[in-house]
Amino acid sequence: MSAELIDGKALAAETRARVRDGVAALKAATGVTPGLGVVLVGDDPASRSYVTAKERALEEAGMRSVDIRLPEGTTQGELLAVIARLNADPEVHGILVQLPLPKGLDADAVIRAIAPEKDVDGFTPVNVGRMLLGQECFLPCTPHGILRLLEKAGTPTRGAHAVVVGRSAIVGRPITNLLSRKGAGGDATVTLCHAATPDLGRFTRQADILIVAAGRPGTVTAEMVRPGATVIDVGVNRVPDPTARNGHRLRGDCDADVAEVAGKLTPVPGGVGPMTIAMLLENTLEAARRAAGGARHVH
Ligand code: NAP
Repeated sequence: MSAELIDGKALAAETRARVRDGVAALKAATGVTPGLGVVLVGDDPASRSYVTAKERALEEAGMRSVDIRLPEGTTQGELLAVIARLNADPEVHGILVQLPLPKGLDADAVIRAIAPEKDVDGFTPVNVGRMLLGQECFLPCTPHGILRLLEKAGTPTRGAHAVVVGRSAIVGRPITNLLSRKGAGGDATVTLCHAATPDLGRFTRQADILIVAAGRPGTVTAEMVRPGATVIDVGVNRVPDPTARNGHRLRGDCDADVAEVAGKLTPVPGGVGPMTIAMLLENTLEAARRAAGGARHVH
């Protein structure tokens, strides 16, 4: 068997086109251009490339990106002052702080300082609490993108056994919560695995939907996958490759031969990554709509 690839790039392009139309309609109706404050501290190459991709996508969607680059030695106080300024700026509807922050900076405190109505990443305690309670909120972008990919793939979640590998606050835990919600896109029975899970394969082999967000290439091998399962590979790992132009290539968390067993599979790159950016654009548009007092879109 060879898995059908779930084309995140194509789905993201459709989503971005819809967002672009929404931006144009909002501008025409209210004069408001959605704006996102994008904060990057230091010069980690991976973070820099993520931020550049996000800024390019914002521009293409007709939004404004307020790019803030701070040097490696930025203090906690300086960073909090930048967040306060963005919180107070009426032309900035969303705030994104690219993680991880350099050592010495307290990311939790920085995230807490973001006004919840501008928290388009869905990372603040207020947003996370609302999500857990099933209240209106900005859903975190990667898990939200995963839900859209499952929908696009035609993989039903209701009654499915979903197994999540990885318990981070930005992927594993929120997707576990969202898939177990009552109603559309949820109603799955979810098992959450992590590094202390003994015999990971015993769990992953039971999955109708397998979501892998461990950040380690080779975490899931073909024999750990139930034939026909839908596999969402969230991992983005830079592995050295002397034949590549920049000396590395991207690999997911699943071995290549998982494609021989899975029914459907997201590629890396071109699966979850593009959808994460598309969901960020959706949330930014929504934040601007709310600020303009326009229509509310409930996730
Ligand atoms: P993270 O904070 O690094 O956490 C990794 C999680 O995986 C931890 O919970 C860890 O368990 C678990 N884990 C590690 N090795 C494992 C193993 N062998 N078996 C079972 N569990 C294992 O992860 P993250 O921030 O969620 O990122 C995960 C990956 O997704 C990374 O490659 C990241 O680059 C990628 N990512 C991609 C996107 C995108 O848009 N495409 C977005 C976010 C993240 P413990 O808690 O026990 O240590």
